[in-house]
Amino acid sequence: MASTATTDRSAPARAAAASHQADEAIAPTSAPLAGFSGTRRVPPPVNEPVKSYAPGSPEKAVLKARLASMANERVDIPIVIGGKEIRTGDTAQSVMPHDHRHVLADYHKATPQHVEQAIAASRRAAAEWANWAWEDRAAVFLRAAELLTTTWRSTVNAATMLGQSKTVFQAEIDSACELIDFWRFNPAYAQELYEEQPISNNTMWNQLDYRPLEGFVYAVTPFNFTSIAGNLPTAPALMGNTVLWKPAASAMLSAYYIMKLLEEAGLPPGVINFLPGDPVAISNVALSHRDLAGVHFTGSTAVFNSMWQTIGTNMSRYASYPRIVGETGGKDFIVAHPSADVQALAVAIARGGFEYQGQKCSAASRVYIPRSIWPALRERLVGIIEELKMGDITDFTNFMGAVIDDRSFKKISGYLDDAKKNAKVLAGGIAKGEDGYFIKPTLVETTDPGYRLLCEEIFGPVVTAHVYDDAKWDDTLRIIDTTSPYALTGAVFANDRRAVREAAMALRNAAGNFYVNDKPTGAVVGQQPFGGARGSGTNDKAGSKLNLVRWISARSVKETFAPPLDYRYPFMSEA
Ligand code: NAD
Repeated sequence: MASTATTDRSAPARAAAASHQADEAIAPTSAPLAGFSGTRRVPPPVNEPVKSYAPGSPEKAVLKARLASMANERVDIPIVIGGKEIRTGDTAQSVMPHDHRHVLADYHKATPQHVEQAIAASRRAAAEWANWAWEDRAAVFLRAAELLTTTWRSTVNAATMLGQSKTVFQAEIDSACELIDFWRFNPAYAQELYEEQPISNNTMWNQLDYRPLEGFVYAVTPFNFTSIAGNLPTAPALMGNTVLWKPAASAMLSAYYIMKLLEEAGLPPGVINFLPGDPVAISNVALSHRDLAGVHFTGSTAVFNSMWQTIGTNMSRYASYPRIVGETGGKDFIVAHPSADVQALAVAIARGGFEYQGQKCSAASRVYIPRSIWPALRERLVGIIEELKMGDITDFTNFMGAVIDDRSFKKISGYLDDAKKNAKVLAGGIAKGEDGYFIKPTLVETTDPGYRLLCEEIFGPVVTAHVYDDAKWDDTLRIIDTTSPYALTGAVFANDRRAVREAAMALRNAAGNFYVNDKPTGAVVGQQPFGGARGSGTNDKAGSKLNLVRWISARSVKETFAPPLDYRYPFMSEA
């Protein structure tokens, strides 16, 4: 007896007992939800229509008013763990990129202890959330979609415009429409997935139980799409997982409003835990924890590689093999054939290269043009670029805002300096950062197909053109396939159908999203599932069934109705 008592009082046992008590303290007291009878169907998803914000439209008046009120607020953004707001007093600022002395918010930074607390909160929440009927989980996100369509639309759009310097159209297609689409389409894809069941017969019933992963999912989101910030934590949560969400420092205001919207939609405490702060300090704890079940990441290739390396180093610690899903960088191309429509091509390069200041993973940044159409294209493109207005995004006549922050501004300025020395700058080439981080849309021409501006991701409004001899179409396709480590998006412009086929096949592995006579940006949920391979990520296609598959771990269940009662088989008789 004495020795048992001593053993029970060991440090691990005391810790286990304490955590058990903590679990009990917050355990839900209400009875479990009774299940409905009947097969429920989610509403058929439809893409959210893009509002025009035309002069005199009601949406324009509402948004302008919200932009004005938000510019006069200074939001105090907490950490959110288990539904509780935590303020550490150790804060950093969120500013407007186009007016960088204007502070929009202060956010409190999570410490490694908060990450541990968030893991514990996610474990407690999982006990109930993983066992909810999936339709009830889906209802939370369908309601979130409707809140974003209606009462939250102007707030999330205004936060994306002011905090990430998106024009009204760029905010509307991202923070409103794409995120609404993610929250409407994912429940329908989940339904399709759950409906997939194995064959059975009169003697047995075979079933697939689509369990969530065991442990927590770590979602790390980028600055450039509010919709991605909203999708990365919620897609695993829809499938029954609980999540730690580390938002990007430079998109904190829109991320915080999404967290508040999800709470209003009925997301239970602890299902998604919001952890602003130092990415390395937070990731070190999350990525080395035994219960890490998955990573849902979008951002740069270098950061994803470093996370994967950390996971590799920690392999022996994990209870399960973590699912690693990452959508990363791009060096997206447009290749024109001599048969291309020059006007359509010029518009595609301008929109695909310069919208949102070229800060889309899918932005066109290298273009390959045959010599025969180059003079006409160059003239039209330079003409368009000279017309593009850049400035404060609350002035709706602007086509572009500022780039995201000082670090990005300096990096892009470095590429402009390089182009001035080693290539020909045909338009733009000017960076002005005193008040806002403004970079003029820039067109560079180079004769060297291996020039670094054709190979490296710049993530700014810089398009580099390489002019090729019309006879070298096949060689050019080979060059495009091999010059960059990425394979995210790409486009071919041609009226000659044979050329379209040739490009589509030669560049089959050079892009996860391939466009014919269209710009390589602007993928829509349900229409062009998005993602790339090679250095651009694991290509798990955000906003599709392929992505949701990564957040479940299926269990096969076989039930035999009349089990055999004799161990002997018929063949065992010689008679
Ligand atoms: P980033 O890699 O700098 O940051 C992404 C996230 O990782 C942020 O939350 C950041 O805080 C975090 N982070 C930074 N350093 C980290 C570290 N050492 N450990 C763990 N986390 C860390 O990227 P960004 O600037 O926010 O976004 C731009 C990049 O994202 C571009 O490379 C772009 O191509 C890519 N992107 C890809 C897609 C896609 O679907 N393929 C979509 C959007 C953006």
